[in-house]
Amino acid sequence: MAPKRGLCPTIPSVSGPSPGTLVHHGPKYGIWTNVHPVLLFTLYPIVYKTSENQGIPMVKKTIVVVGSGNAAISAGIAALEAGAKVLMLEKAGPDLAGGNTKYTAGAMRFAYETPEELLPLLSNPKDPRIPNTDFGHYTQEKFKADLLCFNDDETLTPEQHALVSESCDAVRWLAGHGVTYDPIYNRQSFEKDGRYVFWGGLTLAAKNEGVGLFEMELAAFQRLGGQIRYRAGVTGLLTRGDRVTGVQVADESISADAVVLACGGFEAGKALREERIGPDWSVAKVRGTPHNTGDGLLMAEALGAMRYGRSGGCHATPVDLHMKDFGNLDLPPGERKNYRKICYFLGVMLNAEGKRFVDEGFDFRNYTYARFGRAVLEQPGHFAWQVFDAKVLDLLYGEYHFEDAHYVEADSLEELVPKLAGADTSSAAATLQEFNAAVDDCTPFDPTTRDGKSTHGLEPDKTNWAQKLDTPPFRAYPVTCGITFTYGGLKVDERGAVLKATGAPIAGLFGCGELVGGVFFGGYPGGSGLTSGTVFGRRAGRGASG
Ligand SMILES: Cc1cc2nc3c(=O)[nH]c(=O)nc-3n(C[C@H](O)[C@H](O)[C@H](O)COP(=O)(O)OP(=O)(O)OC[C@H]3O[C@@H](n4cnc5c(N)ncnc54)[C@H](O)[C@@H]3O)c2cc1C
Repeated sequence: MAPKRGLCPTIPSVSGPSPGTLVHHGPKYGIWTNVHPVLLFTLYPIVYKTSENQGIPMVKKTIVVVGSGNAAISAGIAALEAGAKVLMLEKAGPDLAGGNTKYTAGAMRFAYETPEELLPLLSNPKDPRIPNTDFGHYTQEKFKADLLCFNDDETLTPEQHALVSESCDAVRWLAGHGVTYDPIYNRQSFEKDGRYVFWGGLTLAAKNEGVGLFEMELAAFQRLGGQIRYRAGVTGLLTRGDRVTGVQVADESISADAVVLACGGFEAGKALREERIGPDWSVAKVRGTPHNTGDGLLMAEALGAMRYGRSGGCHATPVDLHMKDFGNLDLPPGERKNYRKICYFLGVMLNAEGKRFVDEGFDFRNYTYARFGRAVLEQPGHFAWQVFDAKVLDLLYGEYHFEDAHYVEADSLEELVPKLAGADTSSAAATLQEFNAAVDDCTPFDPTTRDGKSTHGLEPDKTNWAQKLDTPPFRAYPVTCGITFTYGGLKVDERGAVLKATGAPIAGLFGCGELVGGVFFGGYPGGSGLTSGTVFGRRAGRGASG
């Protein structure tokens, strides 16, 4: 929808309060009659006296935050901490409020030097597994190196430096607001010599995953006095001169001192996907909310905001071919991630021509899963089959054992291949035979490390975790591409202010979360999206209220 622009009324002027009292100034302008009654109470300025200001009238800033995911709530909490009044406007109803955040596993990547730093963050520090766990460490240098792997030879951007250097502090800051975390034993550790060994630098997730994170954050936001309105999709930005002075929600104008856009990327906007990522992307499934249709980007761009980052870049993973077009809204949010299918590193992937098309064992799946959705989309027919044998069935993540997972099974590869609907069966049979013949039998299989157990002479080779497919039953799962979120977005400064192409900030406009560009390019180390939302959300909340 084309963003609306227009003039908004001046926020009513205020007079000084009597000492020590709160004074609410009612609306003076006709436009306020359009404002929701809750807002009449909420948004007009409050004048108050503190011991610091010695009786000099202070006006609380009013901040509107657009969206209610992790980035939005982080911005809201930061703005409340800074003394502002905050209203969050959410397009969805209460069920889908929280956006993609509520679809997540709640995993948050952050740098830490020692395992002891994790203990104060845990929901249950007395978990009996903890003394038997090797959490390792994940330094800022390692986090930077992980990001660099996806930068296609470009150096780290200022946004990436900020993500890394503020990551630990952001997670601790949320903990200070009552967010607790659990070690991700089931997906990020393997048992080795009787100990739980974590791998890949991603160690903790919010208690009760994305839904838990949203609920803990929202509770903190509301405890601090923040307000949220549902079914209040922002359709335009109000401006006076060069300044953003509020937002439009359908035919209602809402004034604010600053607006924080935290309303996601454009992954759910089919037309924008086709325009900015490529024509084939119209067929991608959307793993999360249907509401992230790029509204914030379009509204900001209409005011001259600079497009920044990799416009055609996105996080996309292999997902069940038969999942619905959006994250399954009929499931409890905690189960919605089960359509993802990212254990390809334990087997092989075949396309419609019966050929392999990626090195399934290129790296830990944390570093490949966000790219392999695109690889699947680029195959003929936009689908693939993931093939496993019984040796790894116990290692497959829960999503493969999910009640709604689609797969075919057989007691031999010969019987399995004809069941691979849509694939060239004779070519698939040949590919599997060649794969088995190319596996290095001498190197032991070890999923806790890049084990170097490789094939030799294939194009492409599988360079880690290559085991022969030789133990029945054999299983194959049909997958397609599921887009998770988009990488291209807006350029913001250190305060989170949205910048124009000239480098000048758009007064009164801030941004955070998925719609900030320059954070991810060719790929994504798993668990960085939520951390990015909190890092840039905190900056934007503080910036907007400063
Ligand atoms: C299935 C899945 C699993 C994931 N797992 C992880 C994980 O474990 N760890 C991780 O770090 N990341 C994960 N991600 C990525 C993560 O979800 C995002 O990086 C993060 O949630 C983005 O936060 P956000 O606040 O920017 O956007 P969102 O959480 O999507 O919030 C945006 C909000 O804006 C609202 N909105 C949109 N338009 C408007 C409008 N016009 N007016 C008002 N409101 C509007 C939307 O309804 C939504 O509520 C996952 C994503 C998906 C889909």
